[in-house]
Amino acid sequence: MKIYDVLILGAGASGLMCASQLDKKVSVAIVDANDKVAKKLKISGGGKCNITNAEVSENNFDGDEELVEYALSVFSRDDLLEFLHNNGVEPVLRKDRYYFCQNSSDEIINILKAKTRDCEILLNRDVLALAKVKNIFELKTSKGTLRAKTVVVATGGRSYQTLGASEIGLSVAKSFNIKVKEFTPALVGMTLQKDQFWMKELSGLSCNVQITVNDKILEEDLLFAHKGISGPAVLSASLYWQKGNISVNFLPEFNILELINASKKLVSSVIPLPKRLSHAILKALQVEDKECTKLSKEAINNLKNIHNYSFAPAGNFGFTKAEVSRGGVLSEELNRYTLEALDIENLYFIGEVVDVTGELGGYNFQWAFSSGVVCANALMAKYEN
Ligand SMILES: Cc1cc2nc3c(=O)[nH]c(=O)nc-3n(C[C@H](O)[C@H](O)[C@H](O)COP(=O)(O)OP(=O)(O)OC[C@H]3O[C@@H](n4cnc5c(N)ncnc54)[C@H](O)[C@@H]3O)c2cc1C
Repeated sequence: MKIYDVLILGAGASGLMCASQLDKKVSVAIVDANDKVAKKLKISGGGKCNITNAEVSENNFDGDEELVEYALSVFSRDDLLEFLHNNGVEPVLRKDRYYFCQNSSDEIINILKAKTRDCEILLNRDVLALAKVKNIFELKTSKGTLRAKTVVVATGGRSYQTLGASEIGLSVAKSFNIKVKEFTPALVGMTLQKDQFWMKELSGLSCNVQITVNDKILEEDLLFAHKGISGPAVLSASLYWQKGNISVNFLPEFNILELINASKKLVSSVIPLPKRLSHAILKALQVEDKECTKLSKEAINNLKNIHNYSFAPAGNFGFTKAEVSRGGVLSEELNRYTLEALDIENLYFIGEVVDVTGELGGYNFQWAFSSGVVCANALMAKYEN
């Protein structure tokens, strides 16, 4: 039976990027349960895929800072943009920070497909289990056993099972006694406790806010939703929230005291937010909507909390809605510079299956691509020696 040099589990962003960097002389097979490669990449960012961000550093990730810093130094945002440029793709910058494909995620998928032309791509195959017999890995799949000298686990996280997501990466790691942190939903909307049910009544409205969670401050849009709160600011905040309070500043670009100062208008009229939202916030802050000059000291104190509306979310919308999974293979189990398991020679973990999760805004693809390149470089260094 054929023994591949490298078997990559998962034909998603990280697996394909890793394969694309390997020399043709290395025999590579990529196994995926789906009938097509890169299904998440395809639908991401509304079909245009938010590839990376104008500002990328280890601070945009929840995970081992040194590991992320190293991966970003090997394959940075600029390296990614150059890789795309060299292959005829020029992403566009939206809102001055998010890089998206111009027309469709296919722009990047087609590059990855072209660059993995020499790999065997084995689709419609579920990965079931991995074992190592002497120095050869044996991969049990739904269509028989495959053998390889090296295995790269790139099976992603658990969210969006409809797109092929599974926990197989964690099962494989555990079967080799590699420690993992169980997956939990992240980049996901938050559900509310009774006291904040007023937000549900604003379903469909959105506004720019600043959310403080632990020591992180995230500024973007908050979307009021039927089930709770969502939108970019909330999704990013969900990455750093487990339980306890978060604080929302509904007017990050203004000072409420300056807005009401000596104004003869109603408070709701000086708040630069949609009327329905201003009224709801005033009610939640227990401030009567009257002429600004007539507000009592107590009312002004309450009103100041428009910059610091603090509450504890009830939970989140779960894996079916989460863009990513927090958790994964612990970084302490991996060689930082190669992503090879410290105790299992020739077994690598890349992408979302590693305990590194980025904020909303292209960071998760950047991590998938950077970690894929780190691993590919390590594999090529081994083969060249
Ligand atoms: C709706 C949505 C939108 C997103 N938008 C963005 C965005 O715009 N920007 C951004 O940076 N990130 C985005 N993300 C996150 C991003 O898609 C992931 O972080 C990224 O794809 C992870 O890459 P990966 O290679 O680790 O895993 P994936 O790309 O998920 O690839 C894993 C592959 O492994 C395969 N697999 C899993 N289990 C098995 C098994 N048992 N047998 C065989 N194959 C298996 C899967 O089919 C899949 O093809 C989005 C995610 C979702 C769900």
